[in-house]
Amino acid sequence: MIFLKTQYVFLGKIKDVNITVKREISSDFYLTGNKYRKLKHNLIEFLKSRYEGIATFGGPFSNHLAATSSLCKHFEIKSFGFVRGDEMKIKSNPTIEHCINTGMHLEYLSREDYKLKMCSKKVKKFLSKRNLYLIPEGGDNDFGITGSSEIIGSFDHSFDTICLAVGTGGTMLGVSRSIKKDQKLLGFLSVNDRSRINYISNNIDSSINYKLIKGFTFGGFGKFNNELILFINSFKKKYKIPLDPIYTGKVLFGIFTLIKNHNWSWGKNILFIHTGGLQGIDGFNFLQEKKAGLLLK
Ligand SMILES: *Cc1c(COP(=O)(O)O)cnc(C)c1O
Repeated sequence: MIFLKTQYVFLGKIKDVNITVKREISSDFYLTGNKYRKLKHNLIEFLKSRYEGIATFGGPFSNHLAATSSLCKHFEIKSFGFVRGDEMKIKSNPTIEHCINTGMHLEYLSREDYKLKMCSKKVKKFLSKRNLYLIPEGGDNDFGITGSSEIIGSFDHSFDTICLAVGTGGTMLGVSRSIKKDQKLLGFLSVNDRSRINYISNNIDSSINYKLIKGFTFGGFGKFNNELILFINSFKKKYKIPLDPIYTGKVLFGIFTLIKNHNWSWGKNILFIHTGGLQGIDGFNFLQEKKAGLLLK
């Protein structure tokens, strides 16, 4: 059984802007945030047919791989994960360990094979021997978008602006389908990737009042600096809310910076959707320890 608890935390007023955080806290630490939402309708689809198991793709610290592995363990489904980077065979990390401990079968792919995904020879060969339900990287298919639209409830309609992190953009597209037309939607990019911007602008309903904020990627996916780490640590101390360094930390850093620098030109009553990702903190610290870098507390 998986329980999901919704929590709203009012952070207070920064200058004249009210900020509220919406968190969805799951009874399973790994099956949480938007990755839980994206998997839900994929699971329903999986259960409709006779598949042997579920297969998916992810990087070595992937929130999605960790969530899929947990989900499959709960439902006693065989799970298969294609991991980016064949060096991970010998390297491991806390996310990989979780996947192994929850019974996921891992196949490590070279970067070239990983880019090709289903079209790589190795993956094709592996899949041809089994009847598996395939979920794309990040849970990004139409079922994932439908699940993401369910993040928004009627209470969330009382805010004038909704803010969230953008990786592939699937979550933002889902959320855009369930907000009200007079609400603004701000997506903070966590990646420097034009294709994401095109993907969102080509797929979002033209009546949505949205904006993509590009200034807080910290150089790209998984990139960061000490200022971001210190911000996340002080944020947690002050508000008792942990943030991850890949997605949610960047958004709140962005919101606070824009407001403090008088560059906030959106609503005065904003809701930040905390999309989870907290399992990544252990992996982040694992890498930082090796480099003697700053740690997340
Ligand atoms: C995957 C993820 C995102 C990005 O979601 P997309 O749908 O890929 O844009 C944001 N936050 C967290 C914590 C995530 O794990």
